[in-house]
Amino acid sequence: MSHPNYIKPGIPIYHHREGKGANRIRFLPWRDSVDFIRRIWIHRELGACLKRNWQESCPICEETNRLLEEGRGYRALSKQGLLLGKKPRMLAQIIDRNNEELGVQVWDVSGSDIEIALITLSVHKNSGLIVPWTDPEYGCDLVYDYDHMAENPMPENLRRSWQSKLNVDLYEKAMSDLDDDVILKPTYEELAFLYTQKVKTDSY
Ligand SMILES: [Zn+2]
Repeated sequence: MSHPNYIKPGIPIYHHREGKGANRIRFLPWRDSVDFIRRIWIHRELGACLKRNWQESCPICEETNRLLEEGRGYRALSKQGLLLGKKPRMLAQIIDRNNEELGVQVWDVSGSDIEIALITLSVHKNSGLIVPWTDPEYGCDLVYDYDHMAENPMPENLRRSWQSKLNVDLYEKAMSDLDDDVILKPTYEELAFLYTQKVKTDSY
């Protein structure tokens, strides 16, 4: 499996384990934040969108707008592979509870479905209290199934574990190892180059 080009090289990536309930992960808060999910917008395999993520000029968005303004149809452009829409990915820093020695890894999943599932899971049904996912003492883990052979494999059947204490040393080490800056920001030129290459390869 290749390293995602929107995450800095060398940052360990969590690989979903195959099977029912095979994944049990603990979210860690990003430094100075209670949030544990970071959303990033990417242009398919080309990398992170400069506009949507950093409010800077993005060559792919510019080209898309230019083509659309020229009056070229959305469908035709899609067919030619020229429309590289932005898709959300969600990143979290986690500890694999089944393999804690691996330390902090980045959990990288696609789409908003999982975000919605997580939001639903984040509230206790009866009390309405918010689940303290990242609390080392009172928090809990996310447990889910994964099937690599599925047509569109993604974490399935998300659920909460019971309250589960994290080892103090492990937590402290993890928090000091946390790299807040895991996202790889491309330069304008790099993205423009990749886009040109892609368009060249795809058109015939
Ligand atoms: Zn863009």
